Amino acid sequence: MGQMNRRTVRDLRRGNRSTLLRQLYFQGPVSRQELGALTGLSSGSVSNVVGELLADALVEEAGSVESDGGRPRTLLRVAPGSGHLIGVDVGETHVRVELFDLMLTELARWEHPLTPGGLERDPEPVVGHILAGLEAVVAKSGTEPEAVIGVGVGVPGVVEQGDEVLVHGPTAGRDAVPLERLLRTGTDLPLFIDNGATAQGQAEMWFGAGRGADNAVIALIGSGVGAAIVTAGAPYRGATSSAGEWGHTVVQVGGRACRCGAVGCLEAYVGAQAVLDRYGRAAPGDRPGKAARTVSRRAARRAPVRTSRPRSPRSWGPPEPRRGRARCWRRPPPISVPVSPI
Ligand SMILES: [Zn+2]
Repeated sequence: MGQMNRRTVRDLRRGNRSTLLRQLYFQGPVSRQELGALTGLSSGSVSNVVGELLADALVEEAGSVESDGGRPRTLLRVAPGSGHLIGVDVGETHVRVELFDLMLTELARWEHPLTPGGLERDPEPVVGHILAGLEAVVAKSGTEPEAVIGVGVGVPGVVEQGDEVLVHGPTAGRDAVPLERLLRTGTDLPLFIDNGATAQGQAEMWFGAGRGADNAVIALIGSGVGAAIVTAGAPYRGATSSAGEWGHTVVQVGGRACRCGAVGCLEAYVGAQAVLDRYGRAAPGDRPGKAARTVSRRAARRAPVRTSRPRSPRSWGPPEPRRGRARCWRRPPPISVPVSPI
């Protein structure tokens, strides 16, 4: 009984530490009084736990603000150097590995080009690149491996979470790549593997436009097309973990050929290669490759891209609504399509 009580008290303290750290990380810098209001913990509990976190150097003071008629309130934040994070972006055309402090200041970066679909067709070289990147950023930043809290790995395709994380490719090739097991052959760092669009969506919910929202759809349009769906504040994966895999949804029956082998997929219209192909065809007078280089360069500068002979959207997409029929009540915002360098 006594042992159970001790464990309960210890668990309560761990829970309070976790609650306060979470609020400090996502809402900080905040004062002790604000922490009390955000967490519902008593001022005594906040004071005790903050004292421990300061002593452990997990939290630090970050200036002060005036309070109504009282003493200035000291602001607190998570100490940026008390831990490090690594992000791994396995895209269609590159592996990028970056190491950050807890304020997401980039401390080191490593990158290697890939051929599209490489992870599905032949995963071992990609795994080798990821492991090389992890080693490189840890060494370059001078970080102790023990200080790395976690490695987030975003990959294309359907990621099946379970006893073993499996990656299923959206196009052709080898299915069910045991990515976690393969990475474990070369690293002991804590790994969190997910679909790249899902990972981007989580970041958007934590730090971007999704903050405070309960329901959101975050679209990723690059070489492939994916989306993160958030319902009631939690990621929605669907029965087969593929809820956001909409790139190979047929949007035009009998439409453009897609690299997955089907025709009329969304990716065959808005994926980076499809945009480059269409742009190249729209400027027939240009030298081969010039149009593609132009669109890639302008996309990198975020400059608008205009073809020399504009084509009607009718020629590549679903038919537009006829004049006089029901229309959108508001013009949708322009879509910016990031295009990977080729
Ligand atoms: Zn397709």
